[in-house]
Amino acid sequence: MNLFLSVSIFLMLSGCTGTESTSPAKETGQNKSEEAQEINYDKVQEEPEELGQEPLNYETEKERIIEQYEGITPTSWGENVEGVITEIDTNEKIIALTFDACDGTPDSFDEELINFLIEEDIPATIFIAGQWIEAYEEEFMELSDNPLFEMANHGYDHKPLSVNGELAYGIRGTQNVQETFEEIFKNQVLIQEMTGETPKYFRSGTAFYDEVSVEIASELGLKIVNYNALGDAGGTFNKSKIVESLEVAEPGSIYIFHMNQPQGEIARGVKEGVLQLKDQGYEFMQLQEVDELLK
Ligand SMILES: [Zn+2]
Repeated sequence: MNLFLSVSIFLMLSGCTGTESTSPAKETGQNKSEEAQEINYDKVQEEPEELGQEPLNYETEKERIIEQYEGITPTSWGENVEGVITEIDTNEKIIALTFDACDGTPDSFDEELINFLIEEDIPATIFIAGQWIEAYEEEFMELSDNPLFEMANHGYDHKPLSVNGELAYGIRGTQNVQETFEEIFKNQVLIQEMTGETPKYFRSGTAFYDEVSVEIASELGLKIVNYNALGDAGGTFNKSKIVESLEVAEPGSIYIFHMNQPQGEIARGVKEGVLQLKDQGYEFMQLQEVDELLK
């Protein structure tokens, strides 16, 4: 079975449109996890040479995480709890641009923005939610095939990461250890199945966490990366506010923008602000290029 076939079968079996509500999530989530495991098993048996990295074992990891973290009560909740990375530790003119792709509703791909980055040869890290990937498969494959862009995990259902159902901006977080695991790992498996590469970085939907969830992500081999520079404020900034936010860039800034809101002025603001920074001698790096400097 070749990679394309495996991926097609996985997507067919998972049958998610990316716009479904999350109410029956528990049941469908478990079905998906079993399927994901089966496909990984096929890969191990038939074509290990095609995978760049070790296949992920969904069920084994799930059991391990539940056993280790079930029953622990978190004591903090927010964007900057312990263990969350927010900056690059450097005095050099290096910054990281990160772009979130959140929901996969129609018209959620900012092509103008992505084309600008490609034309100007600007590397970036893109945090992609599973629901976006499933709605924009072709675009996702193009992005992941482009070495300018590093694929990072933005959660499968774009939820705040909580082990007890905390709220962020009125959005209910994952409700227990198993859901926290699923939110992280279903998307991790999906991205690995589609690209052959395993993401190194995670940012939750809303960028909120408790410290137990941060530890779970870390136990699964992921670093949680938020930001110290608000680029578009969830897509609410107009062009001039976006340019202003880029004007105050400092060495080591990690910017958060969105690439799923073409209706706004993000592309226009990023173009102007990023070209100004380029003129000032700033260099743009993917997170993996500055991995050892992340703090
Ligand atoms: Zn998001």
